[in-house]
Amino acid sequence: MELHAIEYEGIPIEYELIRKDVKYINLRVNKHGQVVVSAAKRVPFSVIEEFVQSKALWIINHLAEVEKIRMAQPSGAMYDGKTLYYLGEPYTLHIAQGLRQIQRSENIIYMSTFQTDSVGLRSEYLDWLREQATGTFAKLLDEIHPKVKDYGIPYPKIQVRNMRSIWGSCTVETQSIRLNLQLMKADPDCIRQVIYHELAHFRFADHSRRFYALLTEWMPNWKECKERLETMYKDGV
Ligand SMILES: [Zn+2]
Repeated sequence: MELHAIEYEGIPIEYELIRKDVKYINLRVNKHGQVVVSAAKRVPFSVIEEFVQSKALWIINHLAEVEKIRMAQPSGAMYDGKTLYYLGEPYTLHIAQGLRQIQRSENIIYMSTFQTDSVGLRSEYLDWLREQATGTFAKLLDEIHPKVKDYGIPYPKIQVRNMRSIWGSCTVETQSIRLNLQLMKADPDCIRQVIYHELAHFRFADHSRRFYALLTEWMPNWKECKERLETMYKDGV
């Protein structure tokens, strides 16, 4: 497979070229919105390029169609080809029928399942995210805690929850912090920011100036991470 591109009235069109045993040239737009061209080995590249160029308008209309279908999905919907963020990196969701299982490869999250409705898919995906969260949050806390323990911060128990409106909370009495499993979509610095925030509450229960001064001392760029967290990773799932 090779990746090529043409331009049509200033619009770049990328396509994958596969050389295989076809009669001449085939062109299609798949459901992920990728343009795939298969051509026989004997067809010169210049001819392929000319062919794609002649189909440019058809491709653009087709891509718009695929995009329209995607846009029409409610934001929390799970569907083949959806982009999911995992620790700040984008992945394409691939759904297949089969034994319940989720696997993550370089840029794809494979979900094999018996569920076919979006609600079932979503709860299965969130279960998986929760499993991943447990280890990831513990590792980040292990990394962070040595830097704050001299401030009298206890090593807290972590509870992982799926929450709609908050990223985390802190209960001083039980020495525990609660972290939103939705954080698994964000890059690690965004998660660190929430952990530092909750740990700072062991010193100051409020959001006073002293509280933020402490947070800034621990993580000078916390504000930037918080902004990223609020704007980049909310996908409704
Ligand atoms: Zn707070």
